[in-house]
Amino acid sequence: MLAPLLLVSALNLGAAPDPLAAPRAEAEALVLIQQTLQWYTATVGETSIQAETYLGHDRLFSKETIARFRKAAKEPGISADERRAREYFQAYLANEYLSQSTSKYDDRAQNAALQATVRLPWMKDPVPYKQLDLIVADEKDAGRRAEIEKARSEIQKTVLNPILAEKEAMAQKLARALGYRSYVELSEESRRAQLRPFMVEGKRFLDATDAMFKELLAEVTQRELGIPAAQLRRSDFNRLFKAPRHERFFPADIAVPSFKAFLAGMGIDFKTVAGTEVRVDDAVNPLKEPRAACWGIRVPSDVRVNVKPLPGLDSLGVFFHEGGHAVMFANTTTKVWEFQQLGPGALTEGLGETFRYAWADPVWLRRYRSFVQAHNAETKRNDPLMSDQDIRELSRLQALYQLYYLRRYAYAKLVYESVLHGGTPSLWKGIYDRPTGDPMALYRDVFSTAYAVPMDESDALRFRTDVDDTFYSLDYARSFALAHLMSEGMRAKFGADWYGSPAAGKLIKTIVAEGNKTEAEDVAKLFGVPFDLRPAEARLRRLVAETAAPPGARN
Ligand SMILES: [Zn+2]
Repeated sequence: MLAPLLLVSALNLGAAPDPLAAPRAEAEALVLIQQTLQWYTATVGETSIQAETYLGHDRLFSKETIARFRKAAKEPGISADERRAREYFQAYLANEYLSQSTSKYDDRAQNAALQATVRLPWMKDPVPYKQLDLIVADEKDAGRRAEIEKARSEIQKTVLNPILAEKEAMAQKLARALGYRSYVELSEESRRAQLRPFMVEGKRFLDATDAMFKELLAEVTQRELGIPAAQLRRSDFNRLFKAPRHERFFPADIAVPSFKAFLAGMGIDFKTVAGTEVRVDDAVNPLKEPRAACWGIRVPSDVRVNVKPLPGLDSLGVFFHEGGHAVMFANTTTKVWEFQQLGPGALTEGLGETFRYAWADPVWLRRYRSFVQAHNAETKRNDPLMSDQDIRELSRLQALYQLYYLRRYAYAKLVYESVLHGGTPSLWKGIYDRPTGDPMALYRDVFSTAYAVPMDESDALRFRTDVDDTFYSLDYARSFALAHLMSEGMRAKFGADWYGSPAAGKLIKTIVAEGNKTEAEDVAKLFGVPFDLRPAEARLRRLVAETAAPPGARN
């Protein structure tokens, strides 16, 4: 009786199933379920049940499984792709472990924020905390905007910051318990990027563009908000970047057709390589998430974008960004799930930003004007058309926005979060040499420098809410660098009007084919330049020079 049993087990051994396959299949199924549920929460307001989806998956997200994949990623004799897939999987598990273990703090903070209201003297009823972003962007009076921010900071100080301080301490402790030297090491490993060299580059960019930023800031805030630079406050930025003066050029329902026209110029359609359509839900529904978002539910066959049509360039820019994610998912041909769904965010965010950055380029803005003209004729509408001066002014506003974001992320956020998350001083040595003992004072100092406006006590109270978990800020900073690099690279290869070049579209499809396996540095190599902020600097300088007012004209 023994022999057949032995034979059976020998047979089983011969076809030994890959011991890593089961956790990978389990994660793949879980992510599929979570994303599908997220889609219904975002589009029709289905109650979020993400917490329930984790029940029963304790083993997958355990320290043991994380350690197993850590070891498996170092195993000799596996292919480079398999090694990288295992690294992505390990990073996914570690991040999930951390976010699940700290989710109670996020839930508490989220619920507290949902319940909190503030009193504004000029409004009869208390205002929900969650609506303050919209209210401050709509408020025409600068004094009232400052008051709104002050009221917001009171909630941060008394309600949110204490919860988030607990979360921070717990997250750092857990990272070490998982076997990482620190929270910073866990983050750098998951983002596959080093903080220090990028921060050095961020500081160089900050200094190199300082004069340009300050001049542009003074000019644009005077023109858009009627505020002289000396009186500008942080509370004015929300409204500044909402660009209310230009809202009429961007009607609520223009996002989808204008994005399709944008893609069509490069010979890209809104179809997937599996032959399906990218699904866009642009229905007007009161329970819908107001911010556009994209899901690659099954890559590449089932890609979906949710958008609530709102007027203005801000929501249109977000739609173009999400459209970038969609184009990437839809044109990803790799069969490796980890490269489809996991891995660092710099490439996909970078493509999203490349598409959004078109709105700073007069060449695309003129194309958009032609599109609106044709759209008007086709749909018997009469949407206003931008004049050349509108295009110039809008381009300068967008260039300012991009400068602001790079200064905020590549300098202020990385320095501040390195300190907050317990990094070693060698990370910021020579980049920031003032005392770092008090996070709130540090936040106030680095963000005042980045924004070139003085920050008061209430601005500084954002120091706990303005934080990205495990340095997603690094992915963002790198994605901004990449977007400028790609925009400049496309321009160099295919001309200033690369928006009309099918070869540019082909190159984009090539870049995204391997999914997240391709990293920012690989893309830089493709364009023959080092991955840094020099293309960003060159592009912004060029845009600002190109859009300067002609002699005699009002700037
Ligand atoms: Zn994104």
